[in-house]
Amino acid sequence: MQLADASLLKSDAYIDGQWVAAEKRFAVTNPATGAVIAEVADADAAMARHAIEVAAKAQKSWARETAKTRAMIMRDWFNLIMQNQDDLAQILTLEMGKPLAEAKGEIAYGASFIDWFAEEGRRITGDILMPHQHDKRLMVLKQPIGVYGAITPWNFPNAMITRKVAPGMAAGCAGVVKPAQQTPLSALALAELAHRAGVPAGIVNIITSSDAAAIGGELCANALVRKISFTGSTEVGRRLMQQSAETVKKVSMELGGNAPLIVFDDADLSVAVPEALASKFRNAGQTCVCANRIFVQDGIYDDFAAALTEEVKKMRLGDGMEAGVTIGPLIDAAALEKVAECVEDALAHGAEAVVGGKRADLGADLGAGLETTFFEPTILTDATPKMRVFREEIFGPVAPLFRFKSEDEVVGLANDTIFGLASYFFARDMARVWRVAEQLDYGIVSVNTGIFSNEIGPFGGVKQSGVGREGSRYGIDEYLEMKYVCLGV
Ligand code: NAP
Repeated sequence: MQLADASLLKSDAYIDGQWVAAEKRFAVTNPATGAVIAEVADADAAMARHAIEVAAKAQKSWARETAKTRAMIMRDWFNLIMQNQDDLAQILTLEMGKPLAEAKGEIAYGASFIDWFAEEGRRITGDILMPHQHDKRLMVLKQPIGVYGAITPWNFPNAMITRKVAPGMAAGCAGVVKPAQQTPLSALALAELAHRAGVPAGIVNIITSSDAAAIGGELCANALVRKISFTGSTEVGRRLMQQSAETVKKVSMELGGNAPLIVFDDADLSVAVPEALASKFRNAGQTCVCANRIFVQDGIYDDFAAALTEEVKKMRLGDGMEAGVTIGPLIDAAALEKVAECVEDALAHGAEAVVGGKRADLGADLGAGLETTFFEPTILTDATPKMRVFREEIFGPVAPLFRFKSEDEVVGLANDTIFGLASYFFARDMARVWRVAEQLDYGIVSVNTGIFSNEIGPFGGVKQSGVGREGSRYGIDEYLEMKYVCLGV
């Protein structure tokens, strides 16, 4: 690691503006090599409780600051992040594995939420309503919800944090954040820069821990916490919703997906192929919005499969720190095992791997009993709904191609899942574009493009992909309460 500013690499928890050690520590490893990068403070429930109490105290004065003051501090934080983009990207690639260029992109994407919500915080408005009696005046105030708990996954170690902390900060809230065990270093680096930007003590607290259940349990049970914002698997999200029910918390849940990507006969292949490639293979297929099931219409199936195969053959698998690498390792050996099992199941049910289909001969020197974390970018043709890849989130670089005949048939197949996060389709007939966009039962429909994420559009799912929206002008509502004031005059 060659950081221009080595002091960005922190390994203690960040509570009340201080770096706090814990009795125990846990190792953070590089998924490409198995090398230990840092030993990080292993916080327990008592430390989380302390952080919550600190946040509750700090939040009161933060809420009294003007929105402009909060915006100016956030702007400084944004600038510091962008000035340190290269270092933050290195830390991210080392702990998570995505190629350095992609990591740099995530830093800018993550920072965009801080920039955006600094502005949005200044545009929080209430309402004055027409009264029902002459001697009454009716108003609606929007106020910060208070202390929120945030739990985030490893696949976007930077952006999943800023997407929660930025609206919380702008709204006048204080947060206790538990990053994923595999990727705490990006979160701690963000905290260091928030500190330098002048974010007051207690407004952002980072609890690093190997005991997610203990920290999550405290965040959900503690009555001082008024909101839980979670990004991760549907399974854990369900549990957190149940645990939050006891104290009736507001929740935002950004959960799993099973994105369909549909290529109709009238699609422009010169667009559909590179966009499908980007949607499927970015982050080695480890995003909640990666195309999971690719449905291709009969008339264009063979051409699409051949063109996509050509592009996949050009991808370079390897350590994300190496120049020219376009696809990195999976996060750990368990993730690789799940992907390999999904592929084996598909092959056993009649699919054909036209490229890839197996573990890569890379990372053999991982040591410490670690298997490789690299899986070859794979295309499976002749996929069918009987296969696991139809029902499950693959979370790896595997593109199963399903053949379909009619629009009705494919809309039915696309919606045949408990998930409803992102969906994609490629078509040029405008009537079809409207029809299909309206019929897809998803929070996000991406038409003729494979990349839609930004700070401006509302991100979130329906069905078991979650509740609430992040980013956009709607995202700040998750951190605000509505208060009705009835004034007798
Ligand atoms: P995960 O296992 O659900 O973990 C996510 C976070 O929850 C981690 O911080 C994890 O901590 C924590 N956690 C695990 N068990 C917990 C418990 N019992 N109580 C409290 N917290 C607990 O998910 P993942 O494997 O990291 O991430 C992949 C999943 O996230 C996929 O399903 C993906 O689709 C989803 N995701 C969704 C979005 C979205 O915006 N909708 C974005 C990105 C990812 P540890 O790391 O310590 O286990």
